[in-house]
Amino acid sequence: MTTVMTTAQRLAAADALALTWVDNAGITRVKVVPAARVDAAARHGVGMSPVFDVFLLDDSATSSPYIGGPTGDLRLVPDLEMLTPLAAQPGWAWAPADRRAQDGTPYPGCQRTYARRMVDRAAARGLRLRAGIEIEWFVGRDAAGAVAVGEPAADPGGAAAPVPVGVGPAYGMARVVELSDYLRELLRALAAQGVEVLQLHPEYSVGQLELSTAPTDPVTAADLSVLIRATIRAVGARYGLVTSFAPVVYGADVGNGGHVHLSLWREERNLCQGGQGPGGMTAEAEHFVAGLLRALPELCAIGAPSVASYLRLVPSHWAGAYQCWGLENREAALRFVSGAVDERAELANVEVKCADLTANPYLLLGALIAAGLAGVDAGATLPPQVTGDPALLDDAGREASGVRRLPRSLADAVAALEKSALLREALGDPMFEAVLAVRRAEIELFANATTEQVVAATRFRH
Ligand code: GLU
Ligand code: MG
Repeated sequence: MTTVMTTAQRLAAADALALTWVDNAGITRVKVVPAARVDAAARHGVGMSPVFDVFLLDDSATSSPYIGGPTGDLRLVPDLEMLTPLAAQPGWAWAPADRRAQDGTPYPGCQRTYARRMVDRAAARGLRLRAGIEIEWFVGRDAAGAVAVGEPAADPGGAAAPVPVGVGPAYGMARVVELSDYLRELLRALAAQGVEVLQLHPEYSVGQLELSTAPTDPVTAADLSVLIRATIRAVGARYGLVTSFAPVVYGADVGNGGHVHLSLWREERNLCQGGQGPGGMTAEAEHFVAGLLRALPELCAIGAPSVASYLRLVPSHWAGAYQCWGLENREAALRFVSGAVDERAELANVEVKCADLTANPYLLLGALIAAGLAGVDAGATLPPQVTGDPALLDDAGREASGVRRLPRSLADAVAALEKSALLREALGDPMFEAVLAVRRAEIELFANATTEQVVAATRFRH
């Protein structure tokens, strides 16, 4: 990731380069070129069908008004600034790709280009964003049978729930002891890849872990979400472990979030602190957060985009199931993080908790920025914050505080997205329609499925 080394130096020990992009179902797809082809790939791109824009999480395809069908070709163009040797996949390097038309012009369905466009939209207002996506995951032994260290899992893409490892208490040191080699190797791999980890901890559920990284510009934050997940999966594979980033892995257990942290900056000033607004926000930061708050229902169709997302997005699971904000409130969909007093200038931020890791991170960051900027343009203001768990208020209490449940199903979220002039404009018609088509087709795919079937079909895909 570091740009100090040249591309040739970073590729020195690599035989293969993985070029990734993320489709509208949130699946990371790849094309691989031999390391010797990197210059050609950067110059001309690598061929790829646009049909993946309407692929579903089970690899079936739907169609949409602008995108779909077997015809056409795009060029995957690696971003060599991000080229990173993969520490847990010796001989491999990775780079995220932009997708362009064959004549080199931007492709309207490219989610990474879209995220960059929203960053530019902020810049046109003199604003910039810093972002980070938290990664939660479950690690376990393949249910099909234990495998020896260094061997591939017998059923890596299988649907069966893994047998958890790391079985001590939530946040418990016992889990770290049990998994100490694995965790150390993970930290070492990420450090070797230039990823700045802030912290790592055993999460609430058995076998669940979480890692957070230092804020970066939004497109890099989305790239890192892809890179870090690949690294976690690869380190696990070296220990014969399987990894799940799915919103729900074991029935009714607490699931995996993919919380997004955002801070808004004007030049070198973090606008999320030092102001007169709630929690010390400046007026512009309040407008931005208010823009996020009012758009949360439609943002759920981007940030909690799978049928399984709504098995996780339930009250009293720290998932942020209510449309409200609160200072350091882990049950509010928007948790305002003021941070330690001496770190505020750098780190005060708003955390979007309702998102999970089935989201396409580029689409999500772009949509969050678009919603926040719409709030800035409108001078939107925040309602009073909510303290405590909104689930504990009665209906009258929630009504009085203006707190609503976020969508309870993907269908509810899609209904909000369909009406969203904000996101239609920001995504542009081709991408907006493709996203809608994928969401509708996944709803249809699981129309008659049991909860367990939805969980199983989503467990190892993202
Ligand atoms: N695992 C919770 C979720 O689904 C989040 C726990 C936390 O606040 O870190 O979002
Ligand atoms: Mg967590």
